[in-house]
Amino acid sequence: MTASVVRPAAAVAAAVVDVASPPVPEAIPPIAYDPAVLPVLLQALDGIDVITDLSRVERLSRDFAWFSPVLKRELEGKRADVVVRPRTEEEIVRVVSACARLGVPLTPRGSGTGNYGQCTPIHGGVLLDLSGYNQFMWCRHGVGRAQAGIRLADFDTQARPKGWELRWLPSTFRSATLGGLYGGGFGGLGSINYGPLAAPGNVLGLKAITIEAEPKLIELRGADALLLHHVYGTNGLVLELEVALAPAHDWLETLVVFDHFDHALNAADSIARAPGIEKKGVTFLAAPVPAYLTALAEYLPSGCHALICIVAEHSEDGFKQLVSEAGGRISYRRTAEEVASSKRTLMEFAWNHTTLHALKVDPGLTYIQTGFDPTCHLAQVRALREALGDEMLVHLEFIRTKEGAHNCSGLQMLHYSTDERLAQIMQIHRDHGVMIANPHVWRVEDGKQGRINREVVATKARLDPQGLLNPGKLRGWDERVALLAAAATAEEKQATLPRF
Ligand code: FAD
Repeated sequence: MTASVVRPAAAVAAAVVDVASPPVPEAIPPIAYDPAVLPVLLQALDGIDVITDLSRVERLSRDFAWFSPVLKRELEGKRADVVVRPRTEEEIVRVVSACARLGVPLTPRGSGTGNYGQCTPIHGGVLLDLSGYNQFMWCRHGVGRAQAGIRLADFDTQARPKGWELRWLPSTFRSATLGGLYGGGFGGLGSINYGPLAAPGNVLGLKAITIEAEPKLIELRGADALLLHHVYGTNGLVLELEVALAPAHDWLETLVVFDHFDHALNAADSIARAPGIEKKGVTFLAAPVPAYLTALAEYLPSGCHALICIVAEHSEDGFKQLVSEAGGRISYRRTAEEVASSKRTLMEFAWNHTTLHALKVDPGLTYIQTGFDPTCHLAQVRALREALGDEMLVHLEFIRTKEGAHNCSGLQMLHYSTDERLAQIMQIHRDHGVMIANPHVWRVEDGKQGRINREVVATKARLDPQGLLNPGKLRGWDERVALLAAAATAEEKQATLPRF
């Protein structure tokens, strides 16, 4: 690790955190939180915005896990005891310090648009709503920095006059926060150029706070700046993020319709890979998915296969040429100016917004998330269509992989019947060489083939030594406790621990 300490928080004693070789703890006790400490906690938070009203706490404890009937069932009734909304670094330091002193679990929240119960506390405690900690800090030379609670749309509003915009926008950009995207997201519009957030060079640095009675602020940069990414706020609380930006363009929003599945799929692939066409997103929706986008019904003829293509206005001629060669028809076209004045953007029909629109029409649907093999992604799409027929509703987003290859990822929908059939369908995808990011599980590693990342766990040991952050979600941390418990002697303990 190459992290450096910025400064001790709240002017506490200037102890230096040696993040390169943390002290090996004797043992890490499982979380032993007693809600009886809450009155003392609330006293310590005097003057900070706190929500105790049960119905509001319950609402804020939820995200969009209801897309999954499995998660809906499993997370039923899970909630925080209290929501705290700090607005300054000083207030965050006070909350963190009080929770650390009293052993209260602390679950970060941005806007709660995550899909896997990511901000739902499993063990109660404090839900730390960071949406009020939202200042844009600066933007220069293609780099921008902001506080974690800034909404992505607000970030872009600040950066665009300087000629820059975010490299990836989830379709929830209007409400989702930068910290939430980093803590729980993948990418989105723009990933067709820049890959997911996890691609080296996208996230440049971050400021985190340690969860201790005397919290410290540290800056992580380079590869270390990804150690807290997509682990649901379990191994560090992020205060600021510094990210590389993309040149801002005037984006033309279009719908392209086709009669044939193969023509539409080939067109999506060729537009997505066309090197001369600046684009922000190419979405492929096989029939009958377009029929679920009822707000766009007049542009989507019955039975059509459709693409949502967002390309730079200056790329329109080249784009039209590719559409016409592929046998498609542009049924909807809005310039950037028209989009800005209409308040409707096709970006809110792509990515998991497609699923949201479909669920509004048919609540019996659910979805899966897939990653194709860039060497044969179109063949895999066709083979799976052959294997699963009408059972799968095909929705693909074209992206670049973390390594830079042209590819697509899927947010396919299906009618939920049983957990067993859902598992079978995911297995059929794996059997075709397609990766599954399982959206029906709530622990970090369970969505990623169960892989435990030791560096992620080691980071938690350094930044959250008591294990208070979003407890229960990081299997690697819980197994570390079990490993320690199983090691009988001091030597065995040493042998177990240094690997983390
Ligand atoms: P939250 O849901 O509040 O939090 C997400 C996770 O991050 C939680 O585990 C939380 O504890 C943690 N967290 C939040 N803030 C911090 C912090 N400061 N420090 C540490 N951890 C923190 N995702 C995509 O990647 N691409 C998409 O295109 C996309 N489309 C979506 C469409 C719909 C309709 C829905 C419902 C979801 C979609 N998502 C998508 C998922 C989600 O919207 C994004 O990941 C979003 O960026 C999450 O931001 P948020 O502020 O709502 O985070």
